[in-house]
Amino acid sequence: MKNGVVIVGAGHAGVQAAASLREDGYDGPVILVGDEDELPYHKPPLSKTFIKDAEAKPQPLRGEAFYTGSAIDYRPGVRIDRIDAGRRSLDIAGGGALAFDHLILATGSRPRTLPLPGADLSGVLSLRSLADARLIRDLSAQTDEVVILGGGFIGLEIAATLRAAGRTVTVVEAVDRLLGRAVAPVVASHVRQRLEATGVSILT
Ligand SMILES: Cc1cc2nc3c(=O)[nH]c(=O)nc-3n(C[C@H](O)[C@H](O)[C@H](O)COP(=O)(O)OP(=O)(O)OC[C@H]3O[C@@H](n4cnc5c(N)ncnc54)[C@H](O)[C@@H]3O)c2cc1C
Repeated sequence: MKNGVVIVGAGHAGVQAAASLREDGYDGPVILVGDEDELPYHKPPLSKTFIKDAEAKPQPLRGEAFYTGSAIDYRPGVRIDRIDAGRRSLDIAGGGALAFDHLILATGSRPRTLPLPGADLSGVLSLRSLADARLIRDLSAQTDEVVILGGGFIGLEIAATLRAAGRTVTVVEAVDRLLGRAVAPVVASHVRQRLEATGVSILT
């Protein structure tokens, strides 16, 4: 047991897994690898203030001192592209390997991109990461009109935020109401009214 625990994915789950190992007394090596270059950050603010406020900074999940103080070896900018379970080893994109005794996968999720012509044009963006949010912030500051595909929580948060920042915003939702997977119709209808009152156009 010399290689310890390797956690792949430095989002909320990965960081908390590392913290919980230490809190529960695990004293072997803990290596946390993530393919983003940042200190792990909170995602919820990205669809709220961050995309409209050029001065807003990412909010770290934990300060840098947490990682050093807890002997958690955080390695940013490292993407794992293969697991060799038999040899207990991970291949690092671009070269190199990382051995583990135990492996935790905390690789999160990503938005579904649309398999449509034009989906790869510049100006067609998804929101998941800090890098995505920076791009949306930069591009939306230079445009008047924004169309958002998806009337779930994140789509509607972006709509409200960019409308408040003065953009003309249209939300397109494939089913007949907003927030269809998340809330009751009466709540969805209230949210729709509130958004429309601010000037957001909604097509369901
Ligand atoms: C814009 C936005 C707003 C949100 N707002 C809310 C909210 O208000 N309330 C709420 O409860 N939830 C909210 N969520 C959801 C919440 O952020 C997620 O549930 C949470 O981020 C999930 O954490 P996770 O660690 O499982 O995954 P993630 O945060 O996705 O982290 C996974 C990490 O693993 C990395 N990774 C993936 N594959 C590899 C690989 N092969 N090698 C190395 N690294 C890899 C990814 O790049 C990422 O950094 C929001 C999400 C977004 C995107």
